This record gives sequence, structure tokens and C-alpha cells, in this order.
Amino acid sequence: MGQFDGQPSVRWSLRGLTEEGDEAWLIRGIARKLYRCPGCHGEIPVGEEHTIVQYVRRPTGTDHHHWHRQCAEELLIPELAKLRRVPASESSQSRLEARGRVRPGRRRS
Ligand SMILES: [Zn+2]
Repeated sequence: MGQFDGQPSVRWSLRGLTEEGDEAWLIRGIARKLYRCPGCHGEIPVGEEHTIVQYVRRPTGTDHHHWHRQCAEELLIPELAKLRRVPASESSQSRLEARGRVRPGRRRS
């Protein structure tokens, strides 16, 4: 897969599928505390623009990680299938949590 044209921004997030079939949302964020990037194990300082990767797993809900923009582009984005751009408004925390929730009445395994 070629280099994806673009990074998450104020207006746009990215959504793709992991090998396991979970949704992965890439969202632009500003670090409010010190984070450690899973890609390079380096620090993301407070105030730095970075990429929040939010996984939506059914039925277990969501979890997220903070990546350097560069690391996400080089290590993470190439692993994702069906990557597309979505309006950032669709990637709000509450919306993603709702996507990860099991519908009432559906049997849990
Ligand atoms: Zn990194």
C-alpha cells in the first residue's frame, strides 16, 4: 500500500480496519500530559500535536493509544485496511464508545 495522503487534522479523522477486523480511528490530538508512543517508545511532550489511535472492539468496547504523527504514519497506517477519511465530528469519544457497545438484546458470548 502506498503512502496515505494525509494525516488526521482538526477537520478530518481516519478510519481503517485492523487485521483482526476491529475499527481503528486515527484522531488528531494535543497532548495534555506526557505520553509514550508505542511505535518508538519515545515521549510525546505536553502540548505536542500527535495522533490518538482509538480501537473500537466489539463487544469489549474501546481503548486508545497516543502515537507520534510520524510513527503512526510509518508504522500504523500501512497496517490498516480500507483506510478512509471521515469528518472529525464522527470520531468524538462518546460516538466511538457507542459504536463499541453491544446492542441491548444481543447475546453475549
Ligand atoms: Zn513515536
